[in-house]
Amino acid sequence: MSTRRYPHSSVSPEEFHKWLSALICVLNSVYFLLNMIVMQKFGIGAVQFTVAVFGGYCFYKSSKGLYQPWHSHTLLALLTLNILISVAIMGLVAGATYWGLALPFWYYSLFGLRKGFIFSAIIMLSAATVIFYRTDTSVLMPYRTVFNFTLVYCSIWLVCHVYEVQRQKTSEYLHSLALQDDLTDLQNRHALKADFQAFQHSFESMHMLIIDIDHFKNINDKYGHDIGDSVLINVADALMQSIQAKEIYRLGGEEFVILFKNISDEEAFRQAEKVRKAVELGIFFSHNEPIKLTVSIGISSLRPEHEFTDILRAADQKLYQAKREGRNRVCA
Ligand code: GH3
Ligand code: MG
Ligand code: MG
Repeated sequence: MSTRRYPHSSVSPEEFHKWLSALICVLNSVYFLLNMIVMQKFGIGAVQFTVAVFGGYCFYKSSKGLYQPWHSHTLLALLTLNILISVAIMGLVAGATYWGLALPFWYYSLFGLRKGFIFSAIIMLSAATVIFYRTDTSVLMPYRTVFNFTLVYCSIWLVCHVYEVQRQKTSEYLHSLALQDDLTDLQNRHALKADFQAFQHSFESMHMLIIDIDHFKNINDKYGHDIGDSVLINVADALMQSIQAKEIYRLGGEEFVILFKNISDEEAFRQAEKVRKAVELGIFFSHNEPIKLTVSIGISSLRPEHEFTDILRAADQKLYQAKREGRNRVCA
């Protein structure tokens, strides 16, 4: 489970983990008391006590925003072990087997498609084996019990799998709607803000380039809005081809942003010059008529106390300096 900066289409795995921890804590506390007081099964009671305590610990940590991926892995490993031990120790007639049917749903919700599939398959094989050897032949028939358990388990597993595939597709679709620029397919301003916040604490230095097409209004006025749009698409392609960076965004209108991580001031300037020259030397076409363009670029660098709006404003000021000084230039 990863800590994602993108929106989820449904409950996030972190949130799901939090409430599942609470549920596991409560359920295991109840079973612990039953086994200790009523059934006098101290071994399995001790296992359930451990799971209950760890469930409570996970819920407490998640509530404080201190979730770690190992929490959910350990929690489900303990829970799985608990169910398998219960099935193995108690007679099948006690009904602990039914809890195994809930596992695929929990695995897929917490760990996604790949791990959900693998864990569900492992549990099906282990549970079927345990059930086969533990089937009390005077009450239950081994083959039929395993057959029925496997079919019910597979039905639930299939639904969980289909649901997770669908959830991921919806999530990716919403992600592209929220974070991608419709016209150029570059990332948009929301993505820039999210990336900035994600990178802010992970990199020592960061440079932001704001790139603004010079006199773009004239293109619209002369050739029309549609040609203006295709010029914006061509400029976005030119930006992507001119440099290696993946962090390229359309800020809005005819303005683009590039983020560079861990490079020097001199290197940031060199990259900006590369972009400027690529546009200056490129030829953009409108119905076979060549259009020449230039861009002005402002550069700002991140200081530890900077917020998103600070670094954006600083780059914007440099951009307007480049405009004032005659356009088609880089100011840092
Ligand atoms: P400067 O050199 O000072 O940047 O001049 P400019 O003409 O590029 O800047 P200005 O802000 O005056 O005009 C920007 C133009 O960009 C105006 C607006 O119609 C156009 N524009 C903004 N978004 C789009 C878009 O999505 N498609 C098209 N075709 N034009 C757009
Ligand atoms: Mg502008
Ligand atoms: Mg402009």
